[in-house]
Amino acid sequence: MNDVLMTMRGIRRHYTMGDNVVRALDGVDLQIRRGEFVMIMGSSGSGKSTLMHLLGCLDVPSGGDFRLGDDDVAGMSDVLLSQVRNRRIGFVFQQFNLLHDLTVLENIALARVYSGMDRRTRLEKAREYADLLGLGHRLGHKPSELSGGQAQRVAIARALVNEPDIILADEPTGNLDSRTGGEIMDVLYGLHDRGYTVIMVTHDPKFAEGGTRRILLQDGCVVEDVSGERAMSESVAAEHSRGATVAAGMSIFDLLRIGVREGLLAHKMRTALTMLGIVIAVAGVIAMSSFSLGSKQKQADQIRALGANLVRVVDGRLEGEKLTQARIGGSAGLSLRDLEVLRQCVPGVLLSAAAREIKLNPVTDSGQSISPRTLGVLGDYHEVNNLRLTAGRFIDTHDQTDNARVAVLGASIADSLGGDDAVGKHVLLGGNPYEVIGVLANRNIDIKGLEATGASDSNRDLLVPLRTILKRTRHLDMRSEIDEICLQLESEEFLYEAGAAIRRVLQLAHAGQDDFRLVVPLDLLKQKQQSQRLLDILTACISSIALVVGGIGIMNIMLASVTERTREIGIRRAVGATHRDILLQFLSEAVLIAITGGLVGFVVAVAVVAATCTVFDLPIVVSPVMVAVSVLASTLTGLVFGLYPAAQAAAENPVEALRYE
Ligand code: ADP
Repeated sequence: MNDVLMTMRGIRRHYTMGDNVVRALDGVDLQIRRGEFVMIMGSSGSGKSTLMHLLGCLDVPSGGDFRLGDDDVAGMSDVLLSQVRNRRIGFVFQQFNLLHDLTVLENIALARVYSGMDRRTRLEKAREYADLLGLGHRLGHKPSELSGGQAQRVAIARALVNEPDIILADEPTGNLDSRTGGEIMDVLYGLHDRGYTVIMVTHDPKFAEGGTRRILLQDGCVVEDVSGERAMSESVAAEHSRGATVAAGMSIFDLLRIGVREGLLAHKMRTALTMLGIVIAVAGVIAMSSFSLGSKQKQADQIRALGANLVRVVDGRLEGEKLTQARIGGSAGLSLRDLEVLRQCVPGVLLSAAAREIKLNPVTDSGQSISPRTLGVLGDYHEVNNLRLTAGRFIDTHDQTDNARVAVLGASIADSLGGDDAVGKHVLLGGNPYEVIGVLANRNIDIKGLEATGASDSNRDLLVPLRTILKRTRHLDMRSEIDEICLQLESEEFLYEAGAAIRRVLQLAHAGQDDFRLVVPLDLLKQKQQSQRLLDILTACISSIALVVGGIGIMNIMLASVTERTREIGIRRAVGATHRDILLQFLSEAVLIAITGGLVGFVVAVAVVAATCTVFDLPIVVSPVMVAVSVLASTLTGLVFGLYPAAQAAAENPVEALRYE
């Protein structure tokens, strides 16, 4: 077995300060063997800390040859160097360098976070070392509640938890009174006795001879290298095999835990304010899309309630010269013959109906004027228009062929005749009594919103057989036979094809006269909904701006956080965090803020939508796509705007970061 743990040959570490070159180390030759306890002495500025940082792989030399065992450190990547710090070296600092938000137990377990050990196992492991250092009763405390001696014991336990080859202690007693300092030295001697190799920097002459070897540095050079009083410890390297099974890197759970703890909970108010932009953006997108979808759905529902898949052919209602021209041109206007032809020639026609409005003022048999819209209807009028009866029956073919004087009343008209009891009563049309045979169900449709679709309020209709009307009432000169033909198609798919066919057929039948109009309610609805898209686009724009503003907020707060936590970054790097670990840690914090903002935005949106839609009687529609898109967008915002601060954090130099006050 190779007993040489570290070999330095001609190691230099120079710092360039403007034109000056500071030679912190200038040609150090050193070999560290297993079982040694090396005391490094030297006046302030002689290069002790620099040497420790190089030995601990926190820094790289400017020149010379440095080997860990047989491995050349110069060729090691960040990941490899981090692994060395994590598994082969345990650092103990003068300032303890504990993480203040973590408990004693969590601080001890920190190095194991970066060797990928699961939380339960690593806390068990940490407890073992806490017991070894007499900290058993302090496990749940925060570092601020510990005495200096206890804090240093925690730091030593943390250095031991990954069972390293070497413990590097940089003035571990420097911040302690002499009695506590003595206790900490006893701990280190004890560890040496157990087989650990220790390298320690000290200013204290009374510890100088306590190692197996004493090295004196002066101006970056080793000027003395002599044996100490202490005997080499029996090597037990085989015993602290460095957990060959450990996986590399942080687990996703650790990332999330840190994210929640540091990103979300550490500064609640600050985080909440930062999230606001994201919350507004996400709530805005979801709420506005819900309103938009809700009103679209309401209109679509109403269109369907009025009769689905309808095509209306409406007479042009030409007057004066235009009417004369149309008639001379060979068109008789909309007629029952047209209805017949259309039924035969248009594909996918399921039901059909015709209607003609009559300008008559019906009165009840008691003489009361009821001023309805009087329509003569034919065919499947009530089915096509989705009309339901609450009493009696609808006009049937017999009524048509018999020219029967019967009437069906809309709900409002029926009200003035006693509602459902109107059946059997009579209304007078042009002086002739028509028997009421049916009453239509009330239809609660917001007709105003559907004006463009040609829909009308059936509640005020008085329907009579069209043939009776044509037979028994006077035709006005040149007026078209009927006002409207309604065709119901088998499905929406036929709408386009049918529209084209109707146009062709009627142009032929009307000798090319443009005296009719095609109304496809669903098309009109779609057109109307198209115009709403502008509003949707506007909402998306405003939300995107809010998202960007939110993202900038996150970036800002993360940059502040990186500065505040520079020392923490140094500590984490010293115990084995890689660039990537630090990057992911800060990124996960940013993303968690963003995701939480997104989720809060979602909840706010649902609450607002539920309340508003209830008040305005809109259907509550929350688009899963919009929810997914906005939460995804907020996550992406966190990722994009968190990347720069996270990269800044990862780029921190561990040595500089550890010095940060
Ligand atoms: P010691 O630990 O023995 O007091 P250091 O190793 O901290 O000494 O420093 C050795 C020399 O290197 C000092 O002159 C110090 O000013 C210089 N030095 C250390 N770190 C830096 C740095 N980052 N930039 C410039 N000079 C440095």
